[in-house]
Amino acid sequence: MIPARSFAGRKVALFGLGGSGLATARALVAGGASVLAWDDNPESVAKAQADGIATCDLRAASWTEFAALVLAPGVPLTHPKPHWTVELAHAAGVEIIGDIELFARERRAMAPEAPLIAITGTNGKSTTTALVSHIISASGRDCQMGGNIGRAVMTLEPPLAERFYVVECSSYQIDLAPSLDASVGLLLNLSPDHLDRHGSMDHYADVKAQLVDKAGTAVIGVDDKYSAAIADRLSQAGRTVVRISKHMPLEEGLFAEGSEVYRATDGRREHIASLAGIATLRGEHNAQNALGAVAACLAVGLEPEEIRAGLASFPGLAHRMEPVARRGKVLFVNDSKATNSDAAAPALSSFERVYWIAGGLPKEGGIEALRPLFGRIARAYLIGEAAPAFAATLGDAVEFEISGTLNAAVHHAAADSSHDESAESVVLLSPACASFDQFRNFEVRGDAFRTAVLALQGVEPIGGSA
Ligand code: ADP
Repeated sequence: MIPARSFAGRKVALFGLGGSGLATARALVAGGASVLAWDDNPESVAKAQADGIATCDLRAASWTEFAALVLAPGVPLTHPKPHWTVELAHAAGVEIIGDIELFARERRAMAPEAPLIAITGTNGKSTTTALVSHIISASGRDCQMGGNIGRAVMTLEPPLAERFYVVECSSYQIDLAPSLDASVGLLLNLSPDHLDRHGSMDHYADVKAQLVDKAGTAVIGVDDKYSAAIADRLSQAGRTVVRISKHMPLEEGLFAEGSEVYRATDGRREHIASLAGIATLRGEHNAQNALGAVAACLAVGLEPEEIRAGLASFPGLAHRMEPVARRGKVLFVNDSKATNSDAAAPALSSFERVYWIAGGLPKEGGIEALRPLFGRIARAYLIGEAAPAFAATLGDAVEFEISGTLNAAVHHAAADSSHDESAESVVLLSPACASFDQFRNFEVRGDAFRTAVLALQGVEPIGGSA
């Protein structure tokens, strides 16, 4: 744990006592702050109390005494409307921050030279964060990974000059980290998402830009117009910018041509790495993630040789295009994290012949956006509440069955694909739906897929992420 000493001897209000909120409260207390915490959920409040954290309904607190309001990232700062704690803090002139800001302050105080790579983007954050951390750890360096990827940042080991930090930041966390000054800020991509929380695309892009604005080196994916504009603005301001592109040769920066990664300097290209044959980094979207990781690792001083070794041994993240097993020419892939059609598109694009398991709790728009990829689908196996609507969209374009349950879908897809003559076919769970009609969350759904696949006769398991 990192004791948050920046508020030693001062009073701090904290709202939001979920996993990371509670961890942050503990770090503040360990650092000598006097914390008053609250949550709308009485169970979370009781848990904090049991943990020795002082709680109080912050509506009744004396706000002028607080040095800061520490907010959990799930609590609205601006949109759709500021949370009531935010309004009380504003009225009393109290600064509002989150746990990443606390981490940034502690790092500056304890070991400002500790390399910090902060990662954001609309898609691919977790994969890239895990990949960067894996490459650095595999090179034998001390590396800590946390933030939005699941481990609260204040639970990491305390900053030391030689210790690397890789931190995934959601836009909500960036909004609450006004002084975050990463050694490398990585902005992978930007597309309209979470606009309910940010009001407009401009505001969303402005928030994301804050992560690269104050970074020593800004690594920016320039394949979308919003990120490209941010890269141009920073270059014009004389900042160190490394551009990355997954499909366009650059004069300066890093780019991919197919599965090959190049670094360009003054128009001259140098081959840095090959992603060919790395099952966990398949697809153009993963080329973008790998480019971001390579650029970030180069910027913090890793050698290309070390980076190549780390890329090749990346185990991947569970539930994101995760190869689970193989049987003959058939690969079984768990992409349970794909909870809408945008997220399912990369997986469908990455394979030529797909036995596709889809469905669950439908999202707005259904699978219409996937129509250009229908040619890759050998047959679809539809499950959950979305099955009738998906069947209507597939219509005559794609063969399908309504399997109902995931288990039935796995069995039928496995049987059908075993007769497939193609060089490689894939049984892919990429549901384009939320899971809540049949499963507690996407992880449980992915685990159920893995269990059903591994119970099939003659399959060879892949990887160790089970
Ligand atoms: P995030 O943490 O940003 O949600 P993940 O790494 O967890 O991203 O990936 C979630 C899903 O998003 C993946 O299953 C894949 O379908 C898609 N994805 C991953 N990387 C990218 C990318 N660079 N561009 C577009 N989509 C991506």
